[in-house]
Parts: sequence; structure tokens; C-alpha cells
Amino acid sequence: MLLPLLLALHADPQPARAEIEAALANMTRAVLAADQPAFLASIDQSEPEFATEWRHWAAQLRDWKPDAFAMTIGEGDATFGDTRAVVPLRMTWTINKGPEESWGAGGKPRDVAFPPVVFLREDPDGDGPLPARWLLHGEDWTEIRGQGFIVRYIPGGNAEKVARDVLAAFPVAREHDNAFFGLDPGPQILKLYTSMDHLKATVYLNMPDSYLGGWSESGESIKFLTSYAHSIPEWKNAYAHEYGHVCTWAMGPQASAIPWWTSEGIAEQAAAVFRPGYTEQLDKRFRNLARAGELTPWEDITDYVTAKQKVKAMAYLQGNSLMLYVTGHWGDAERNGWVRAMCRGATPDAATREVLGLPFADLDRDWRASLATPAGEK
Ligand SMILES: [Zn+2]
Repeated sequence: MLLPLLLALHADPQPARAEIEAALANMTRAVLAADQPAFLASIDQSEPEFATEWRHWAAQLRDWKPDAFAMTIGEGDATFGDTRAVVPLRMTWTINKGPEESWGAGGKPRDVAFPPVVFLREDPDGDGPLPARWLLHGEDWTEIRGQGFIVRYIPGGNAEKVARDVLAAFPVAREHDNAFFGLDPGPQILKLYTSMDHLKATVYLNMPDSYLGGWSESGESIKFLTSYAHSIPEWKNAYAHEYGHVCTWAMGPQASAIPWWTSEGIAEQAAAVFRPGYTEQLDKRFRNLARAGELTPWEDITDYVTAKQKVKAMAYLQGNSLMLYVTGHWGDAERNGWVRAMCRGATPDAATREVLGLPFADLDRDWRASLATPAGEK
């Protein structure tokens, strides 16, 4: 008869608190050792998106091992049950290497208060009472369901209104993108964050950006700050971009490794339908930049983590400009085929030769030549 013993053990919350503190200490040690498997052993694997988000987070530790790090129970209310606990989480770290302009690295100490997170007690033998371990299951989300997607948010402020706007906007953006990319990546989880620091800390410790409004990577949920957009039309635009990435991830197994300007450029083009007048403004801007000799070398906007802040916007803008050129000359299907070839592992040059029939250097030259005349002139 083990059940009464279990109940007796957990009538007092202190053992559960101590066990969770021990789990957090294990996670802390694993991060300081850049030991990805040891860290991921404390992450609940039951939802693939959540597990993938933390796998990507932990994969950065190989190159960005922090010099100081701790995960602890933070300030605020905590509840401890036999198999489920909800605790405020605090994450602190310092990564001494990296550029000073990096938010997460570059020597600045970071201290991020997560909203309450859920730990679940796992009993590996299924017959209790010990050994058992507590696994991080994720934030204590409230969720509403749409057709083929779930919207999650932390109640408070305007989060519930934002969630309802997203519930209305996302299916419109998804339908547009599925047609634009010619595919359907299937069910999605949409997470809405109230705190930017919380959002950034769930992506990478070495997050380069001080400002981050939204995020998605292959196999993850789609993350947005609740303050990123303010109306249903703005959320359609926001998700047409971010879900555009989800469509790109579905194009091939190497999609996460394609040049950054490619994934941002095609996501921007997908979203442009929800931005009246945007494409015309972009065209004008790039004709001006081209005539001023101020286009950005592609290699400067190929890697998200190492791109300099001053050129980062060009991954979006210049990537979009080249996508528009390719679309205009070859059409939607060939543009998608070109990106798909890169997602299947082709270099930009190989994909360009294979799908568009010329070397990348020639495509780059022709695109630049197309921008040589002022807007409105032939
Ligand atoms: Zn993007």
C-alpha cells in the first residue's frame, strides 16, 4: 500500500519545495557545465514544441557557456501538490564573451523573473513513492483553442483581449501563407508573452537582441509579445511573417541553416499583403540605397547570432528586395523552389544554379542592375 505513504509524504509542502530546489540545482549545474543532456533531463518531454524550444536553448551552451548561472524559485506565491507544483522562476546569468551590444552575452549580468512555471513530478517506475523527479513543464498558461491551433497567454493586463484578437487573426494569416508557400505545416501553438525579458530568456541565454518582439524556430511554438501588435489587422501582419517561418521550416530538413536573409526575406514578402503600400516603399528605398552604393554584403546578414546590430534590419529589407526580384522574374513557384532547394541543403549558389539557372553572383549582379534606375522610371 504505497498511496497512503505518498500522501503522508506530501501533506507537508516542504519536501516538494526541497525536491524542486534540488531539480533547479541540477539544471544550474548542467548549464554551468554546458551539459545539454543533463539539463534536458529536467525538461518535460511530453509536448514536442516545448521540448524542442529547450533543446535549441541548450544547444547554444556549447558555444556560449555562461560564466555565472542560476535557476531558483523566485519571489511570489508558490503552490506545491503531490505531483504538480507552480512556482515563480528566476534565472540569472553572465556570459563574459561576445560583443558588448549583445543583450544576453557581452559581460552584462542578467536577472529575469519568469511568470509562474509548472513542475510535474515524474515517477519513473510508476509504482512510487521514490525515486521520483520533478520536470519543468512550462509556464502556467491559460489557453483558448482555434481550429488547428492553440493560443496560450498569462492572464493579466490586456492579455486576454490580445489572445482573442490572435484567435481571429491567425487563421487569416495562416490561410494566406499556406497558399503563398504552397504547403500546410499543420497544427500550431501560439504563445503570448507579457515580458520581453521573459521571451528573450526562453530563446537563448546569448540572445543578441535587446529588442525582441516575436520568435519561431523549426519545431517550436510561435512566440509573440502581447505588445507587438494592437489590432486584428496588425496581428494578421505579425503572424503572416512569423508563420511564414513555420512554412519555411516545413520546406526541408536544413531549413534552420539557410541564410538568415533568405528566411526573413521570404517571410517579409509573405506578410506584405497585410501592409498596404509597403512593397512600393521598399522598392523606392532600395533604388535609393543602390544608387548611393549602400547595399549590404550578403555575408553580413547570413547569420542571425553574429550579424551586427547596425545591419540586422537588412536581413529583412534586402532579403525581401531580392525575393521580390526573383518573384518578378521567375514567379511564385520558382521562388518557393529556390528557397526549398536551400532548405534541402543546397548552398545559395547551388540552389540558384539548379532552380533559376544562373550562379548566385549573376543573380546578385542582375538584382543590383534592376535597382539602378530611380523609382517610377524604366
Ligand atoms: Zn522573422
